[in-house]
Amino acid sequence: MALDETLFRHAEQSGALAFEGASVTRMDESAAGVLLEIEQSLPDGTRAKRLLRADRVVAAYGRRSGLDRPLDRDFLRRRSPFVGYKRRHALLPGADAVAAELRGKVEIHLFDGGYCGVNIVDGGAVNVCLLAEDRVFAAAGSALRRDAISHLARLSPSLRGRIEALRPDGEPMAAAQLMFTAKEPSSGSILFIGDAVGMIAPLCGDGQAMALESAILLAELMAHNDGEYLPKIWDDVWRKRFASRLRAGRWLQALLMRPSAAEASIRLLKPLPFLAVPLLARTRGAPRLQL
Ligand SMILES: Cc1cc2nc3c(=O)[nH]c(=O)nc-3n(C[C@H](O)[C@H](O)[C@H](O)COP(=O)(O)OP(=O)(O)OC[C@H]3O[C@@H](n4cnc5c(N)ncnc54)[C@H](O)[C@@H]3O)c2cc1C
Repeated sequence: MALDETLFRHAEQSGALAFEGASVTRMDESAAGVLLEIEQSLPDGTRAKRLLRADRVVAAYGRRSGLDRPLDRDFLRRRSPFVGYKRRHALLPGADAVAAELRGKVEIHLFDGGYCGVNIVDGGAVNVCLLAEDRVFAAAGSALRRDAISHLARLSPSLRGRIEALRPDGEPMAAAQLMFTAKEPSSGSILFIGDAVGMIAPLCGDGQAMALESAILLAELMAHNDGEYLPKIWDDVWRKRFASRLRAGRWLQALLMRPSAAEASIRLLKPLPFLAVPLLARTRGAPRLQL
């Protein structure tokens, strides 16, 4: 959110027409371009509507939106078993040892059908964020409504050790139907970036970096080539840059969600960290990684 705010202010100061507290409620393509309906909350509490016409739209609205339906995007016909769930926590008094162990790291705790990331974020809060197949949540039943993370911690002794040192400090957030396959990078004059084209498996911890990278890549492309072939070029450039990363992320995620395969892989990679480097590099844009 801090990064969102910084980018928004920077765009505004650079001369962009910025509408704060606004959402795009319709996006219609026509021969004359794309018509956008924007609804904005005003300081007096009322809402105002305005219409904008654009020759080109760069859509950065995330993994799923009501705006996808009128575009009849393919992924809407697919189903995904993955559910994401996160909640901010605070360290309990006396949990200094846990704080020291977490500092500078992202821990990933694996369990059958999912995994959970634990790390210290802005202001010293501890973010606990998990991805699991819906069967894991279904098995947890009504206990989920009380405190999903402590319930799911029972699936992993190492995660339970962490949760016992924390207390929830913030509202839980959940998202279903998470997909890690690529979507089409463009639809007519609308070009998608970030999760709106494809979300990498969160295990890779690279979703935000990838979203920013796709924005920079498209901006550079548009600076040199904003003709009628741009959507086709963007389709090719996006696929070349990101499609194999998404595939590698899906493959790794599937492996680590099966406990026996995960344990065997970790046993193999622990004494041979140089084998892990090329594996990780496949999920990253950087040509070289150091562990
Ligand atoms: C369980 C889980 C764990 C993750 N862990 C990590 C991690 O550890 N590290 C990491 O880097 N990434 C992680 N990610 C991925 C990361 O959150 C995304 O890849 C990243 O946020 C994508 O950025 P984005 O800007 O494309 O989309 P978003 O961050 O979703 O931003 C889209 C924005 O568009 C706005 N919007 C939507 N519709 C409209 C509309 N109609 N009008 C106006 N605005 C609209 C939304 O309000 C939102 O602000 C994780 C994801 C999940 C599900």
